[in-house]
Amino acid sequence: MIVGRGADYVKILIEEGTVLDAPGLPQLSTDVILAAVAAAHSHGKAAVAHALTIADTSRAIKAGVDGLTHLLIDRPHTPTSSGRSPHPAPS
Ligand SMILES: [Zn+2]
Repeated sequence: MIVGRGADYVKILIEEGTVLDAPGLPQLSTDVILAAVAAAHSHGKAAVAHALTIADTSRAIKAGVDGLTHLLIDRPHTPTSSGRSPHPAPS
């Protein structure tokens, strides 16, 4: 894993492509996302997610990511749009 070479965090791409005008991109399964989060945490690293839609953001949060690297762009934000609120940070 890249964290063994000094990475500070693991970024997980959860992106189906519609909002980027490229629908149908291959997606990670929930099991792979969960494994990536667990692997990051097992190395003492944060797991962050690229997720641009409410659906993908919800998947990321349910998987236990520590942060989001983008804000939603498929609909306006609401106080409950993402439930628990990981810190969004640009990447
Ligand atoms: Zn990204």
